[in-house]
Amino acid sequence: MTTMQAAFVKVPFQFELREVPVPEVKPDWALIKVAACGICGTDMHYANHLATEWQGFGHEVAGTVVACGAGVSHVKEGDTVVLESGSYCGVCDLCRNGRVDLCNKGPNFWANPTMGFAEYILAPKHCLVPYSGLSPEVACLTEPIGVAVDMVRVADIQLGQDVLVLGLGPIGVMSIPLARLRGAGRIYAANRSGGKRAEVAKAFGADEVILTGETPLKDVAFRKGGVERALVSASVQAISEAMPHMTYEGILSFIGIQFGEGSSISFDANDFHFKKLQLRASHAAPALYFPLVLQLLRDKQVDGDALISHVLPLSQMSEAMHLVRDRRDEVVKVVITA
Ligand SMILES: [Zn+2]
Ligand SMILES: [Zn+2]
Repeated sequence: MTTMQAAFVKVPFQFELREVPVPEVKPDWALIKVAACGICGTDMHYANHLATEWQGFGHEVAGTVVACGAGVSHVKEGDTVVLESGSYCGVCDLCRNGRVDLCNKGPNFWANPTMGFAEYILAPKHCLVPYSGLSPEVACLTEPIGVAVDMVRVADIQLGQDVLVLGLGPIGVMSIPLARLRGAGRIYAANRSGGKRAEVAKAFGADEVILTGETPLKDVAFRKGGVERALVSASVQAISEAMPHMTYEGILSFIGIQFGEGSSISFDANDFHFKKLQLRASHAAPALYFPLVLQLLRDKQVDGDALISHVLPLSQMSEAMHLVRDRRDEVVKVVITA
């Protein structure tokens, strides 16, 4: 084992598989044989905007430890692990003040020449979370489900509150069972178009699926005249769409990145003021909640298998990315197996 297959990405939407050296293990890092790696919206951003030079990608990884560098003690060769996509440092002021959730200075694998869409990945020990009792395809969902956990926590859903989930990409869909576990009353799941995502939203417990392409939110008969909580993982403009449908003291939790035009929005500040609304940002960096998410997956409180619409081998990396871009109505989560 001296060389491996690894995928590279470059703007505009180009992909290459190359035979490259297997990374060499070093102190405080471990070499992981990748079993599964999920495709994420961030990967699409790299392909469309961010990867100005050829670079490795893939950060939702499950695999097996094959070699440990000196100083790696909490996992050993043969252990199955999932990888935090970023960790906190533990020594900065934020960390020492107990706000590890705000620290992004921990070691991570984003500067590696190759990442999760490869046969092996080198990862710092801080990012290695051991798991068992799940298939690697389901285990690699831990990272994105952690993102949904953050969005739901930020929204602070209280018992019986009605929730609007706006945007039914993987994060939106995953947030539905989490909102239910938080005690949501009625869950309205809204997406511009239907297809597989709407089906999974329904299966995950949405009480009503709204296709905003056919029924704009203003035509929806919310039973309380609106919702107490909104989970928005859609375009930035969706914040403005959701805002008029928040009830008194509503909280809107948002996760999303928009490049170029459309990154600014407007909404009625008087409405915002008089209804005492709150707009909150969720950003799951560093990656947190892995042990919690692994438990939710094992207990089937989140049905990982139902989230996976496609599994493709690394050799079809380019096809998989095109599938995610071009067949939105058929795709929920696409997982690459190495
Ligand atoms: Zn991701
Ligand atoms: Zn820190």
